[in-house]
Amino acid sequence: MIAATWDEWGIFLAEVFRRDPGATIPTAYRSADYFHWATADRFRELRVEDQHIRHRWDGYGRSITGAFQVRDCKCGARMRFEARAGAWENEINFSVNREAINALV
Ligand SMILES: [Zn+2]
Repeated sequence: MIAATWDEWGIFLAEVFRRDPGATIPTAYRSADYFHWATADRFRELRVEDQHIRHRWDGYGRSITGAFQVRDCKCGARMRFEARAGAWENEINFSVNREAINALV
């Protein structure tokens, strides 16, 4: 039996979210926006022929706020994990606020 690679799953899930932007993947991806955030936009354009078959994930880096953790592969793939519940929503709110602040300066 051959299991799908992380990239193959990502490409598949990106297609699910493309066809149904309101889809959720219980216990994994609560929305399309969250999926693309958690996978660092890797699957917005990745094609099967461009995948990395065996990612080797570096240790857990932590964001400056400690709200989420990051793992990277040398190929450029990235995973983000919430370090505490609600971190993603806070990050999105912070991004919106940052845009509002930037618009004022
Ligand atoms: Zn990789």
